[in-house]
Amino acid sequence: MKLTFDNRVAVVTGAGRGIGRSIAEGLAAEGVHVVCVSRNPDSCGAAAEAIKANGGKASSLAIDVSDGKAVAEACEALIEEHQNIDILVNNAGITRDTLLMRMTDEDWHDVISTNLSSCFYWAKGLLRPMTKKRWGRVINISSVVGIMGNAGQVNYGSAKAGIFGMTKSMAREVASRNITVNAVAPGFIETDMTGKLSDEIAEGAKKMVPLKRFGKPEEISNMVTYLASEEAGYITGQTFTVDGGMAM
Ligand code: NAP
Repeated sequence: MKLTFDNRVAVVTGAGRGIGRSIAEGLAAEGVHVVCVSRNPDSCGAAAEAIKANGGKASSLAIDVSDGKAVAEACEALIEEHQNIDILVNNAGITRDTLLMRMTDEDWHDVISTNLSSCFYWAKGLLRPMTKKRWGRVINISSVVGIMGNAGQVNYGSAKAGIFGMTKSMAREVASRNITVNAVAPGFIETDMTGKLSDEIAEGAKKMVPLKRFGKPEEISNMVTYLASEEAGYITGQTFTVDGGMAM
């Protein structure tokens, strides 16, 4: 199937590395101008430069997505510059894993604000012009941990499950304006985040996956690119699990 993108502009958070970078590259390959967002200017800058070196359109923005005021200001500047942001991919995320009884308030708040509150800040900042244009796509990256839970990830599991409720509620609010809101829940994907796992834990994790391997970032970005396309216009409020069969 050939996907259609009509001079779209996208914001992809966490585009400096891993899944987010692959999402940025996937959208840019379809002719979308991608604003690559990350905390470190070097990582989002390198992602945007790589896209441009391949003939695509991109720019970069270094910002802490957990800072609501900074995100609101950035959204105003982006709308001023591009008139409209058509596609928002909320992908930035962190882990601060430890058992509940050892988890500090800081571990809890850092993960909730980076993985969940950030989705609210960006949507709030970018939805208004989408409603005026009567076209928009919001895609929130959750996790199978939001569906299944995981010992040592009470903070992360709560944030990722929160994304499901946010996605459905937001989808109902903006559907009449032709804006779709969906979530993608990856399983274990080969990135820096899973690179932190010991060989023993990684091997144990693979045994839990019916397809017996970790996924590749492109296997998530392919789903995101489809959901961002014109062709996915009748899909909203859904979660798509891309996990090798783990959470079936
Ligand atoms: P990753 O390789 O660790 O990359 C995370 C990206 O998010 C980086 O670009 C990082 O910026 C950015 N980021 C983190 N905190 C930020 C903040 N406060 N402000 C701005 N940017 C921030 O992660 P990944 O594995 O690609 O994961 C991407 C998303 O998929 C996350 O939401 C994660 O929870 C989810 N996910 C991943 C897996 C997996 O197996 N990998 C599974 C399920 C869900 P810098 O480059 O500046 O550090």
